[in-house]
Amino acid sequence: MMNLLTLAKFPFLKDAKIYVRNEGATVHELLTDPLFESARYIAIERLENVLRKKDIGNRVLSTESERIMELFSYPLARMITVCIQDDFFTRSYALSEAVHMYKNLLKEPVSFIFDVAKEFNLIVEHSDDPDQSQILFTHYLTYAPTRYKKWKMINRTMNNGFISISKKDLSRILQEVLRKRINEELENRSPHREALSVFSEDISRIKNKVLTQRKKHEVLPLGKLNVEYLPPCLKNILSLIQAGENVAHMGRFALVAFFNSLNLSTDEIIKLFSKSPDFEEDKTRYQIEHILGKTGSTSYKPPGCDKLKTYGLCPSEEVDEMCKRIVHPTSYYRWKWKNEKRKNDRKEKAK
Ligand code: SF4
Repeated sequence: MMNLLTLAKFPFLKDAKIYVRNEGATVHELLTDPLFESARYIAIERLENVLRKKDIGNRVLSTESERIMELFSYPLARMITVCIQDDFFTRSYALSEAVHMYKNLLKEPVSFIFDVAKEFNLIVEHSDDPDQSQILFTHYLTYAPTRYKKWKMINRTMNNGFISISKKDLSRILQEVLRKRINEELENRSPHREALSVFSEDISRIKNKVLTQRKKHEVLPLGKLNVEYLPPCLKNILSLIQAGENVAHMGRFALVAFFNSLNLSTDEIIKLFSKSPDFEEDKTRYQIEHILGKTGSTSYKPPGCDKLKTYGLCPSEEVDEMCKRIVHPTSYYRWKWKNEKRKNDRKEKAK
């Protein structure tokens, strides 16, 4: 069994679950017993930090009691997240726990990071170079953020089916594994009745904050763009990005090149991407500028329907009558825009 400090810092590990189970506290006790009041307080702090810092935050873990409360705050935070019943918040919470783990892993020895990787069912091996490790390439492809240049396979060395990566990069891959795992574990869970009532005030306060955050982003002062006129393919890509989902390179490329064709500035495009829970302005700006040809010699044109279909980005079940008449998403947008303008002009005349 790992020591209590490690369990408090990595409460999603099997040993941490065993520790919590062995303590024998019931859910009712966790929710109401004064003994766990501090754990309940920390659970709320974890969630408040999701919106404030995109990380569940650090607390002092000097004493045994502080460590135990930190550990118990984790199942409580998960329970409350389910009660909030907001997919965006659940995804943000999963990401914040994962980012927190990533930062903690960087302070741990490689042997510990290996143990976590194995617990997450990743196939990893030691390398001759103590600063490097090897990961099975299929696992690398599943979890690495390959939308960023440094993570692309072309920039990695593969040997016998294994990719060489640093301790830092292995920790980043584990971040993605944990994010996915927490999100999948929580997304279809039903709220716990007693938790709903015990935390009712906190739940509605956090819900309001989520709403305010969303509204802030919904107000997009983009005169040139009306999201309503986007064709189904681009609407889907945009909503996936804004929900923090991993979108394949072609999807991101299609969207950015399309926005560029509408003369949106880089800052305006970044603003649309900024709703994503794992938004990083510098990296997003670099990617956008690359697509727009500001960091290279080529400026790319938005792909047409044929190409989007080839890449599986045309949602066949959502195509509408307009889709059947056009061969390019820009024609779709232009038609919708003109049609709406015509309608408004008619209304104006009728006044
Ligand atoms: S038909 Fe073209 S515009 Fe319509 S959803 Fe498919 S790719 Fe997009």
